[in-house]
Amino acid sequence: MDSQAVRASMVERLRALGGIEPAVLDAMLAVPRHIFLEPGLAAQAYLDNALPIGHGQTISKPSVVARCASVLLQSLGAKPARVLEIGTGCGYQAAVLSRVAGEVYSVERIRALHELARRNLRALRLANLRLLLGDGSAGASSGAPFDAVLSAAACNEPPQAWLEQLRPGGVLLAPVGQPQRLMAYRKLGTGRVESWCVEDARFVPLKSGVL
Ligand code: SAH
Repeated sequence: MDSQAVRASMVERLRALGGIEPAVLDAMLAVPRHIFLEPGLAAQAYLDNALPIGHGQTISKPSVVARCASVLLQSLGAKPARVLEIGTGCGYQAAVLSRVAGEVYSVERIRALHELARRNLRALRLANLRLLLGDGSAGASSGAPFDAVLSAAACNEPPQAWLEQLRPGGVLLAPVGQPQRLMAYRKLGTGRVESWCVEDARFVPLKSGVL
């Protein structure tokens, strides 16, 4: 498979959707998605599909990764210095984020996936990406404060730690509620939080504890 050419056509389809930041399109052109999938699924890597990664979890659709990263960049208005991702999974979105942010922390609760992500990411040598094993409901206090928190798992109400670990002016993006909506929350300097709905969403659930 000429993955560079297939990836370029995926990026052109994402560009045609409109509203995707050029830096995100560049990142998605640079990060090979097929290396995050098992060999039997690699041929589908550049279609706009969520695909299984084991342990009942999925790799997010490219259009969802592109949209979430773009919403973060647009709502911050600048390159984020530090981003926290909840739900590393296979590590694909973490790799994309690491190319549009200064530093990325990514937390996963399933040890086997945390280790899979570590293996998948090794060849990409992303020195600004830190993978953590833990229950992301508690955020990652070692890296706080963050410019942005992005959850790849859906909750009923965002855990307080995510807002607490944002800097004033920072943005949290998370799938929330039933039916799920991708919600954005901006922490205002006054301690108040403003929120808005980005779009309908379909993510795996946020679960507690470490497996
Ligand atoms: N970011 C991934 C998406 C993975 S799916 C991508 O690039 O495609 C969401 C992930 O969130 C799953 O791996 C799931 O195990 C994880 N998750 C669910 N609840 C969590 C929690 N409380 N803390 C950390 N990770 C969690």
